[in-house]
Amino acid sequence: MYASKYANGNSKLEQGIKVQHQISLDLYERDEQLPSELNLEPGYSGPTSVDQRGNQNFTTINAVFYSPLSRGRTHITSTDHNARPAVDPAYWSHPIDVAMHVASLQVARKLLRTPPLQSIYIKEFEPGADVESDEEVEAYLKTVAKSDNHEVGTMAMMPEALGGVVDTKFRVYGLENVRVTDASVIPMPIGSHMESTVYMLGEKVRVIHH
Ligand SMILES: Cc1cc2nc3c(=O)[nH]c(=O)nc-3n(C[C@H](O)[C@H](O)[C@H](O)COP(=O)(O)OP(=O)(O)OC[C@H]3O[C@@H](n4cnc5c(N)ncnc54)[C@H](O)[C@@H]3O)c2cc1C
Repeated sequence: MYASKYANGNSKLEQGIKVQHQISLDLYERDEQLPSELNLEPGYSGPTSVDQRGNQNFTTINAVFYSPLSRGRTHITSTDHNARPAVDPAYWSHPIDVAMHVASLQVARKLLRTPPLQSIYIKEFEPGADVESDEEVEAYLKTVAKSDNHEVGTMAMMPEALGGVVDTKFRVYGLENVRVTDASVIPMPIGSHMESTVYMLGEKVRVIHH
């Protein structure tokens, strides 16, 4: 049902989303999918402005959710190429994503309250000790979660029969001599930050076409 809703009537893409989900779920089952990065940084990284935070020191754990099953959508809105496209990131539209992201925050919180980090733990600023249950954490995250800017997949390198846009040589299906090589061809979210993979794509296309 999810795949048909987010494929916008494109039956090939519907199959593509299903195949992608199957790959992700298989990876989860084999414990080979990295769901989240928990990065600990000195200082404050969160939604509250500096004048609202009080005169205190902070350490932040960011729960960067890496492996969403949610699939966003982009569309042209006009034949004018200067017109902005319609973009629907559809964050958290898949229920497993919500559960995974909530669990990530709960693990981060557990880390802070477990030795050795416990030795520097004084109290929790956000979401705060009173935001405890998974339901409460979910409600909190809905107000503060934001993108980590790792967008991929708008020109997915996948078989055409699965709604793909470029082949394994970066050529756009159905067009002569047009290639795309950037983050948009990465078909699924990767369990990492993006840059090194994007550089690798540039190297690959150079080797393939020169
Ligand atoms: C705020 C932010 C922080 C990030 N932090 C990290 C990080 O720490 N580590 C990491 O690995 N990744 C990070 N990323 C992700 C990473 O930057 C992107 O995934 C990566 O840059 C995507 O590469 P790209 O080549 O697909 O697109 P881009 O790097 O966006 O390159 C697209 C280029 O096309 C140009 N362009 C656009 N329109 C036109 C036009 N009409 N004509 C000519 N040129 C045009 C743009 O100016 C731009 O130079 C971050 C992204 C953001 C936004």
